[in-house]
Amino acid sequence: MLELDQLVRDFGGFRAVNGCSFSVAEGSITGLIGPNGAGKTTLFNLIAGALRPTSGHIRFFGEDVTGLSSDALFHKGLVRTFQIPHEFHRLTALENLMMVPPKQPGENLFSNWLSWGKVRNSEAGVERKAYETLEFLDLTHVAHERAGNLSGGQKKLLELGRTMMTDARLVLLDEPAAGVNRTLLRKLEAKIKILNKERGYTFILIEHDMEMIEKLCTPVVCMAEGKVLIEGDFQSVRSDPRVLEAYLGE
Ligand code: ADP
Repeated sequence: MLELDQLVRDFGGFRAVNGCSFSVAEGSITGLIGPNGAGKTTLFNLIAGALRPTSGHIRFFGEDVTGLSSDALFHKGLVRTFQIPHEFHRLTALENLMMVPPKQPGENLFSNWLSWGKVRNSEAGVERKAYETLEFLDLTHVAHERAGNLSGGQKKLLELGRTMMTDARLVLLDEPAAGVNRTLLRKLEAKIKILNKERGYTFILIEHDMEMIEKLCTPVVCMAEGKVLIEGDFQSVRSDPRVLEAYLGE
């Protein structure tokens, strides 16, 4: 589904990603781990189109998408979430979901005047989908709560919900466990698993919570100093002395 081929990204004279190559199989949940400064976030930004690589190639379903904008990638089904959720805090949870689908007829001034029925039907469909998403995430009770008032864990669930409002194929999750209490964490894990197994989502997730990586991810890719250090199942990666060394040098 996704192929990274010798990706490099420089910031001035500093090489944050240094020839990174690996592939992501459709239907997998790939875990991306590594010590702070390993280049994980920069790599996510390259994949999601927030940064352009200095060199190297990215292919999505065989198509070269290197350097495409995040907006173009979003329309191809590649979306990302953020370590710190990017909700619109003054809008309700429901509204945050409803505004995700692109090209809604109500965004256009003329259709608002001339095709009001079409706008209303479209909004009813989007609203239904938003309610279904809230129900799936067990967030129905906060549908009309301002997103800014939700707990850290609820915001993470809402962020996952925003990806469900699109036709996402590959979702990049940036530290979904960060700042989430244990109860909501288990819920988040369960939802990610259902989206993967039953709805065909492929995930790549950056995570420091090794329990979450162990439960969800095969394969696990460990990065250090901008490169892939080792890739394999959780146990073999965890027990590799190079991984321990990389973390100790953090
Ligand atoms: P990780 O997510 O694995 O902690 P990052 O991708 O955030 O690693 O960072 C990798 C390295 O690149 C770090 O040394 C960081 O300081 C550097 N870096 C990241 N973004 C920038 C930037 N915009 N400008 C300069 N250096 C950066």
